[in-house]
Amino acid sequence: MVNQLNFTKFNGCSRQAYLTARDKNYKSLKDKYNMSSRLRDIQTDMLQSFPDGVWVYGDAKRAALDTMQIVEKGEEVIYNATFISGGASARCDVIMLVEGAYDIYAVRPTSRYTRWIDEVLFDKIVMEKAGVKTGNCYVCAIDRDANRSKTINVINVNNYRRQKKLEERLKNILKNISLPEAPEPVLSKQCGSCPYLEGCFAKDSESIFSLKSIPFTKKMSLYQKGVTTVSEFALMPDCTEATKREILVRSTDEDIYSKEEIKAFLNTLHYPLGFLDFETMEVFRPKEKFLSPMDTVITQFSYHLIEKEGAEPVHFEFIGDGESYPEREAAEALCKCIKENHCVLMYSDYEKVCIERLIQRLPQFKEKLAPIIDNLVDLEKPFSAKLLVNRAMEGKSSLKKVLPALYPDCPSLSYSRMAIKNGQQAESVYARLTRMSREEKAQAMHDLKEYCALDTLAMIKLWEKLEFYAEK
Ligand code: SF4
Repeated sequence: MVNQLNFTKFNGCSRQAYLTARDKNYKSLKDKYNMSSRLRDIQTDMLQSFPDGVWVYGDAKRAALDTMQIVEKGEEVIYNATFISGGASARCDVIMLVEGAYDIYAVRPTSRYTRWIDEVLFDKIVMEKAGVKTGNCYVCAIDRDANRSKTINVINVNNYRRQKKLEERLKNILKNISLPEAPEPVLSKQCGSCPYLEGCFAKDSESIFSLKSIPFTKKMSLYQKGVTTVSEFALMPDCTEATKREILVRSTDEDIYSKEEIKAFLNTLHYPLGFLDFETMEVFRPKEKFLSPMDTVITQFSYHLIEKEGAEPVHFEFIGDGESYPEREAAEALCKCIKENHCVLMYSDYEKVCIERLIQRLPQFKEKLAPIIDNLVDLEKPFSAKLLVNRAMEGKSSLKKVLPALYPDCPSLSYSRMAIKNGQQAESVYARLTRMSREEKAQAMHDLKEYCALDTLAMIKLWEKLEFYAEK
């Protein structure tokens, strides 16, 4: 069955169409667009702009039968309306009866609406195939320039020529998925973002496509020149030392490292040495004047500080109360605990982006916050540059991959034992604080603090590991 998800992800490759149609992960729309529970809450809020509708539930077949019955009754507003026709199925967030035809609305908790145009036009094609008269197509997205009374933008995305092109695409997909067997793979730029690359061209760890540290276009050109394995590439002059370490680590359980480069990185740091991590969330309807809908705000941070060599880390933390968006309070707390002479490690440059945003929104803090930006150092860099790697990192450098790879037997550093395991979960929990009882809120605040503190503690452990290899 072709649905919105595999239709919009179709990249023109007939083999991809064939494989997608048989891929269990694509068949269900349950996790449509991987929306976090936080974004689902925002979508539910947005649906209130279409009151008094009828919900359709259940799997696609059940929902499609129910939808047709509801349509026949002439219901004006239907949520989750589902249609199946000619091997394609569409689920519409909302359809609304206007002058004898159903207008279709994709309700998206984002300000970027263009991404959803093809989806809503696909809905229209399938509805028409199912014999339902359709009217206009709209995408409801967040209006980031809106004043507080109107935060939703409704964009008419009717486009007859685009619709005709999409009809051709659908025909093409339906033809390919009914082939008796999968077409042969053909290497193209599209393969770089295709989920089936491994099955098509990277069947084992020797494949050149299994390398993470070089861009896809480079791998493609090597493959086309006949360099198909990592061992062949390792002998070439343009294989960097970092890529050689990535290759070497596949055949050993040892950590592989570059002592001199690690030393050079550590030489850029100085005491007092801080470790900073923010948690953030997107706000749908902010009350604060300096915020726009869907702005990202800081909700909490953790800061560990080591004053001098050999000193124990001291912990500072900040968390909002969930009642408001605590940008001002976060800025004040940052200025209190981070001094001008601190060298501050972050993981990726997200903390820098957040502080820059704070300065933009609250320029009165510029004098104290700007020096923090100058003193930030990205701790992910030595790991993304493969200065220290091992097999368990699987070529990745994210904190949650690197930490357990370097401390495999350390349960106190494990995120899996935590009530909150990742940033997305932290965002959802923070957004629900106001709806919790006093006891629930106290527990949630404790869990949030514990999660954020582990991030900076993890950074200390990674820095210690680098120190260890610099001295080894
Ligand atoms: S990896 Fe390339 S050839 Fe294979 S299915 Fe994807 S796009 Fe097609």
